[in-house]
Amino acid sequence: MSAAAAAGARTLATTCCVVGGGPAGMMLGYLLARAGVNVTVLEKHADFLRDFRGDTIHPSTLQVMQELGLLEALLKRPHNPVKRLQVDIGDTPITIANFGFLPPGRDFIAMMPQWDFLDFLAAAARRYPHFHLLTQANVTGLIEERGRVVGVTATTPDGPLDVRARLVVGCDGRRSTVREKAALTVEDIGAPIDVFWMRISRRPGDPTSGGRIGPGSFFAVLDRGDYFQLAYVIPKGDAERVRAAGLPAFQQTVAKALPFLAARVDELKSWDGVKLLTVAIDRLRKWYRPGLLCIGDAAHAMSPVGGVGINLAVQDAVATANILWKPLKDGRLTEADLARVQKRREFPMKVTQRFQVLAQNNFVRPVLASTKPLKPNWVMRFINRSPLVQQLPARLVGVGVRPEHVHSPEASPGG
Ligand SMILES: Cc1cc2nc3c(=O)[nH]c(=O)nc-3n(C[C@H](O)[C@H](O)[C@H](O)COP(=O)(O)OP(=O)(O)OC[C@H]3O[C@@H](n4cnc5c(N)ncnc54)[C@H](O)[C@@H]3O)c2cc1C
Repeated sequence: MSAAAAAGARTLATTCCVVGGGPAGMMLGYLLARAGVNVTVLEKHADFLRDFRGDTIHPSTLQVMQELGLLEALLKRPHNPVKRLQVDIGDTPITIANFGFLPPGRDFIAMMPQWDFLDFLAAAARRYPHFHLLTQANVTGLIEERGRVVGVTATTPDGPLDVRARLVVGCDGRRSTVREKAALTVEDIGAPIDVFWMRISRRPGDPTSGGRIGPGSFFAVLDRGDYFQLAYVIPKGDAERVRAAGLPAFQQTVAKALPFLAARVDELKSWDGVKLLTVAIDRLRKWYRPGLLCIGDAAHAMSPVGGVGINLAVQDAVATANILWKPLKDGRLTEADLARVQKRREFPMKVTQRFQVLAQNNFVRPVLASTKPLKPNWVMRFINRSPLVQQLPARLVGVGVRPEHVHSPEASPGG
């Protein structure tokens, strides 16, 4: 018996309990409910509104949304389409990826606030009677019986809650409570960088999205319509040194790297508006235990390099629903089914993390260590000159390795 049950917790029964309403959890909740599986998503926050989360919807996710018949409606929500990825190395603009070769309608990255995407998925999922979303439900522990996970304990505004389920799926992100409580072994791959995030207003005539690389300085500039979302990449552990130098010095760093924003850096009024993302790359050795599975960042925290975390989380959810909807519905779920999910998704995850580590070590780190003006090396110049070669990074970032397609069905009403 869980401590909460002993204390008189309410109990709720479901078939699949999804912990975390991020991209992995909401997509999995949607797909399972669509297939007629009873699913309850527990999200600790009251809503999806959180600043500086990943806000990129890549072509692979657009493809999934199209397969679900949701793409047209999704793209009615405000978004900025990014057709190519560009970096300025010193004064030289370099195109590193061009999505133009992809099928029309999915040949771009949609910059859309993550809360809009999640809110859209929640609204679409609520059409299915098997979908239940409980917000302000903070999962605190696992309920286990005879070595098998049979549910979770949570705190809610109405008091403690036990949710019992055939399967618990940890979609609770890089600081996953589920994976910690399940004592799954985490392999730390390490990341040599951290990132400060901030926003500064955007005006007509400003440049569009891109990277800005100079001696010792690496900024990503994301056009969000009426403002820029800025990522300032720093060597790991340098945040305290940067903060200790003071806000005026930080504003000057931004002004020097991005002269078109120099007159607006005083919009950064305090460190409250400059958020630190501690970058991590890690992965679970085993993603599952009897009655429990982890996917998305809970199974493999991704670096922001390439901005692929959301899309990998969505791809995990699609594969999980493809493999598990039937055993869940028929009540025949085995550990071998959970192993199939890891087998399916481990390879794409490992290749993507490898690419992120290579980019961090061979490109980002040398830039941060540099003191002299930078010029594009021959690889960069080669990519810049060849639209054909630009397809390769575009495919890796936009589509990824082993893209998933929706095979889980839509149940007939009442099915
Ligand atoms: C600052 C920042 C910028 C990023 N930029 C990008 C980008 O541009 N593009 C990109 O693709 N990726 C980006 N990423 C990575 C991306 O956000 C993640 O890889 C992706 O969100 C992972 O999705 P997920 O659903 O697995 O986990 P998350 O998005 O982390 O969602 C986990 C959810 O679980 C909830 N939760 C956590 N603990 C509990 C609990 N105990 N009980 C109940 N609920 C819980 C959380 O509130 C959250 O809603 C960025 C990450 C950060 C932090």
